[in-house]
Amino acid sequence: MHAELVIVGTELLLGELVDTNASFLATSLRDIGLDVLYKTTVGDNEARITQVINIALDRSDIVITSGGLGPTLDDVTRPAIAKATGRKLVYSIELERQIAEKFRSFGKKMSENNKRQAFIPEGATPLPNPAGTAPCFLSEDISGRGIVIALPGVPRELQYMMKNKVIPVLAERMAGARFTRIKILRTCAVGESNVDRAISDLMRSKNPTIGLAAHAGQTDVRITAKGTTAAEADTMIASMEREIRQRLGVAVYGTGRETLVEVVGRLLSAKGLKLGILDAVTRGLLGRELAEAGFADLLSRNLCFPDIRAALQGLELSPPDPADLQGPGEILTQAARSIAPPSGVGLALLGPFGNNSTFVAVSGPGSLRIFRQVRPYKDSNYFRRWIIVQGLDWVRRAVLGELESPAD
Ligand code: ATP
Repeated sequence: MHAELVIVGTELLLGELVDTNASFLATSLRDIGLDVLYKTTVGDNEARITQVINIALDRSDIVITSGGLGPTLDDVTRPAIAKATGRKLVYSIELERQIAEKFRSFGKKMSENNKRQAFIPEGATPLPNPAGTAPCFLSEDISGRGIVIALPGVPRELQYMMKNKVIPVLAERMAGARFTRIKILRTCAVGESNVDRAISDLMRSKNPTIGLAAHAGQTDVRITAKGTTAAEADTMIASMEREIRQRLGVAVYGTGRETLVEVVGRLLSAKGLKLGILDAVTRGLLGRELAEAGFADLLSRNLCFPDIRAALQGLELSPPDPADLQGPGEILTQAARSIAPPSGVGLALLGPFGNNSTFVAVSGPGSLRIFRQVRPYKDSNYFRRWIIVQGLDWVRRAVLGELESPAD
């Protein structure tokens, strides 16, 4: 069984409103083991909403809509659901009574407009909404394709209805609800294909399932387990995580939302080490990211130069013309050493050298000195991100004693 979301609202398409309802609905459904395979956002247009719900019913068992249940003329989700499920829109005296009662409880009189909200698809089950005035409902498709559940757009109302009315109905329909748990292991500087190679047999597992997502210099390994209880799913995740960590070793730098900057910052703080940066590649981005993550105090020095020529001159390490420089070994270790604090790590990001290569060099802690050519230089944001990941990862491995010395 799987679910699909239809998020209604022209302001969402115009970019005036951020769609928080979809993420709430998706995580709520995931938690009861219902996969959401598609999500569509559609404006307040009856024909288009009908079309989108029809498509959703063709491929999903459960369709949940958000928004468009209000009393105004542009609230057209009700008639659209009626059309898509092949039902007439009928007036419910009972719903009118409930809406009128709601207004009375606010000390207000129900307007003629609000009577529109008493129309629902024939045969639909009303889901009383104590959090607002828009009646919600569950409508079965007349030809048995699935069900549509209509929820209001106001996030507070939608969340209340989802938790208290919809999840119990869905759990019952699913006969033995399943719980889904997800854990993300973050790896860096190993490359997606290497991760894939190391765990390719595990990626064939059906439960838990393993998925990979690559970003600049980083690969996330997502473990998703389904169990009849949350604890069962957690146990399955833990055992898969142990296996993956054993295979990927130090390449796993963190989990969940942890970033490499945070992990390296915490590691240096815990060891009482400072970091000196010589940056001729990222235009100061690395230092800014560390500072924004709250680690400005860790930086003993943060020297940024627009290019390698300026960097080498600034350090008085300049050869006559850096463009001629093809074998940068000595220069690199000197650069990293000169930036390293007495107790800590020096990190130099230098490039492009004469052959367009870029190097990362690390000095410390202790006697460690290492540098390596990492990639042809590119003037792009992707490259700058990539080089930051390489540099931070080297610092992390150096502090953990996982980088070999001397320089190779
Ligand atoms: P009402 O009866 O209050 O009109 P409704 O079901 O018609 O409810 P909408 O008119 O579509 O809901 O939305 C009401 C408000 O809820 C919007 O103005 C917006 O502030 C918020 N909202 C709607 N959809 C979303 C969404 N997907 N994510 C976040 N907020 C939303």
